[in-house]
Amino acid sequence: MARTVVIGTDGVPFDMVKEFAETGVMPNTADIIAHGTFKQMLSSVPEISSVAWSSMITGVNPGEHGIFGFMELHPNSYRMRFPNYNDLKAPPFWEQREGKSVIINVPATYPVRPMNGVLISGFVSIDIDRSVYPPDLVGTLKGFDYRLDVDAQKAHQSMDLFLEDVDATLDARIKAYRYLWDYCDWSTFMLVFTGTDRLLHFLWDAYENKQHRCHQAFVDHFRKIDEVIGEIAGRLNDDDLLIMHSDHGFERLDCEVFVNYLLAENSFLQFKQDTDPALENICPGTKAFALDPARIYLNLKGKYPCGSVEPADAETILEQIEDLFAELEIEGRRVIRDVYRKEDIYTGPYIDSAPDLTLVAERGFNLKGKIGSDSLYSKGIFTGKHTQDTAFLLLKGPYDPAKLPDVPKVSDISRLII
Ligand SMILES: [Zn+2]
Repeated sequence: MARTVVIGTDGVPFDMVKEFAETGVMPNTADIIAHGTFKQMLSSVPEISSVAWSSMITGVNPGEHGIFGFMELHPNSYRMRFPNYNDLKAPPFWEQREGKSVIINVPATYPVRPMNGVLISGFVSIDIDRSVYPPDLVGTLKGFDYRLDVDAQKAHQSMDLFLEDVDATLDARIKAYRYLWDYCDWSTFMLVFTGTDRLLHFLWDAYENKQHRCHQAFVDHFRKIDEVIGEIAGRLNDDDLLIMHSDHGFERLDCEVFVNYLLAENSFLQFKQDTDPALENICPGTKAFALDPARIYLNLKGKYPCGSVEPADAETILEQIEDLFAELEIEGRRVIRDVYRKEDIYTGPYIDSAPDLTLVAERGFNLKGKIGSDSLYSKGIFTGKHTQDTAFLLLKGPYDPAKLPDVPKVSDISRLII
């Protein structure tokens, strides 16, 4: 029986795969490109992992699967919550298809629930006992020193410690894949590498600069992933389908831009006097606020505790905010590529929970929903940032070309799975 294997690499941009394939860093990937279909792919809006992976595994947009970001507000409040796999409103492909699946390290699948096969959740996973199905695999994984995620805090202490952790996490992931390959008679096997996203955030500069002391370690991480890709490709039959992809792309980060700072500066967002800047301390004069990365919500009357925007005024305020961001420039460069209304990008039963406006940035600008920044923009520890339009998709084996648009989106992938 034909099988599908999906290899996900979080955040890896099309041009990087192309370059590493052409320069011998990823020879196995080069071979797959030579015999397959290799395309640039669009991520979700916003281009963050939880939304992109939820779209990938369900094949639908956030208006149907209900995941719009890493954080949401509790109903009728300004208190934050972290949506998880229980909030995903559409079924992932492994619950829609016949046959067993082995799914390793897909972000936003915590806590796991019973399914036909194996599921090990990816970030943000908290407790390993709730990250593994069936649960009797936990002991085996602990024996591999399995790690749910890279400890990114280490990058704030020392890049060497961080790189050691990235490498150890990858090694344990490889052990888990090798063990689970023969664990059951699966029809879909999915393995996701997420250390790539961490490396790209902290060490994009090491990728670009060959003299950087971490350049070799950066390249070696991709070399090691390519070895696994070669090993997996060698285990496939001609009628099996191999899908490789990322969830969003990456590029150099020039500066972080704080959406709420601009909203506050223009009086759309106001805090009660003598309080810390926090959503819970906004005053009724507030017309709009943003959640990460650049999701803007009108402070609607009836929807929020101190909502003040009347429905009849919503259109005017939306237009004012659209103009504000469309005109924004930093050091002579346009900051915002697109301002989307929810109806432009989402359809489905959960569209009411969608942000009223979502911004996508121009090259180099990283939009943030942080509250209480003391400037419009700054440069932090990250040197790389996500892109919405430069993810990649690589296919080898039989697939239905009618299911693959010229410019594929991350939500198109699950339809290709045999
Ligand atoms: Zn990602």
